[in-house]
Amino acid sequence: MTQRLSAKPTTRRGVPAAALATRAVHAGRDDLADLGLHAAPLDLSTTYPSRDSRGEAARLDVLGTGEICPGPPVYARISNPTVARFEEALAELEGCETAVAFASGMAALTACLLASVSAGKPHVVAVRPLYGSSDHLIDSGLLGNEVTFVEPEKAATALRPDTGLVIVESPANPTLNEVDLRELAEACAPVPLLADNTFATPVLQRPAEHGARLVLHSATKFLGGHGDVLGGVIACDEEYARTLRQIRFLTGAVLHPLAGYLLLRGLSTLPLRVRAASATAAELANRLARHPAVGRVYYPGRDHQRPAMQMASGGALVSFETIGDPHAVISAVRLITPAVSLGSVDTLIQHPASISHHIMDPQDRAATGISDRLLRMSVGLEDVEDLWEDLDQALRACAAPSAPIHRTAASRV
Ligand SMILES: *Cc1c(COP(=O)(O)O)cnc(C)c1O
Repeated sequence: MTQRLSAKPTTRRGVPAAALATRAVHAGRDDLADLGLHAAPLDLSTTYPSRDSRGEAARLDVLGTGEICPGPPVYARISNPTVARFEEALAELEGCETAVAFASGMAALTACLLASVSAGKPHVVAVRPLYGSSDHLIDSGLLGNEVTFVEPEKAATALRPDTGLVIVESPANPTLNEVDLRELAEACAPVPLLADNTFATPVLQRPAEHGARLVLHSATKFLGGHGDVLGGVIACDEEYARTLRQIRFLTGAVLHPLAGYLLLRGLSTLPLRVRAASATAAELANRLARHPAVGRVYYPGRDHQRPAMQMASGGALVSFETIGDPHAVISAVRLITPAVSLGSVDTLIQHPASISHHIMDPQDRAATGISDRLLRMSVGLEDVEDLWEDLDQALRACAAPSAPIHRTAASRV
């Protein structure tokens, strides 16, 4: 099925809009042929020489407001041309005006929280579950914000005059819980909705089309796609981006140019990777649901006999509860990589209560539906039969001896 990018009739460089798969390959690179280049240039400069200090001072006045200013960046903490290509491409795929890249997903979330706090709106309304560190960052008050956790239907009633942000993940990490983004955005307007789109990627869902003002990615995951680059990005409107660029400049949470290069390259195969992994994940979810060693299976579109909410398909993650000891599965997989993180070309499996959501308070974790028997698997590009063979033998290992499941306590930072 050809997926059209509806939001923009033409791209910033005046190239006619095309299907998502086409733009994933060309966005951020439309000028390369005119430059006589094929691969995007990687600019590692930390500083940019100029013999015109007066001109630079004038440019700094503009850059200091967070506005993009043509010409060299002056200093690498302000901006970088390779990173800017990735930002332009991701913004286009998400259907947003612009994007601001950061050193990691957590740095991107930090910038949004600081933006709210510095605007005098430190209160956050958040829908659980969220990625463990995101949950802990907003819950800890480390950045001076205060949080009310709510069910999506109650978000509007939790708003206060000092609410600066509504935060949601759909599908959520790790239960793959889905939220109707349009309903939430409309109920909370005019407070900006920040939707973490790390799991769905713009291939399966574009939250800005449903009213989210800020679209966050841990670019470390599917956007990079090969488990070798750490990064984060916020796609948004130009007005909000100016604040984020100021914060990035002053806090120094910049994305390294090599990471920007790898992320731009990752985008070119994003549609292929996400669609292929998603098809395999759907098949594995079906088989897991029939496996005698498996309890509940979490996969978007499975629970309520309805298609996945606002997603083109269920995505590449499957979570499931084991009947026996989940730790036994982690130690028994051979082809599947037992590791945290997700969105790589290889299949990864991890135990959220021990790793990705370990930092949460155990009571909060349980109340959020993250059981101690839950495993989260990020499906990669291996053959489905090979993956199933490995999963099946690992599940048999966990079902065999009746080892007691050991509970993990959270460590707080
Ligand atoms: C990994 C992750 C993050 C944090 O991103 P980092 O790049 O690790 O800082 C945020 N949200 C979700 C949903 C994630 O999976």
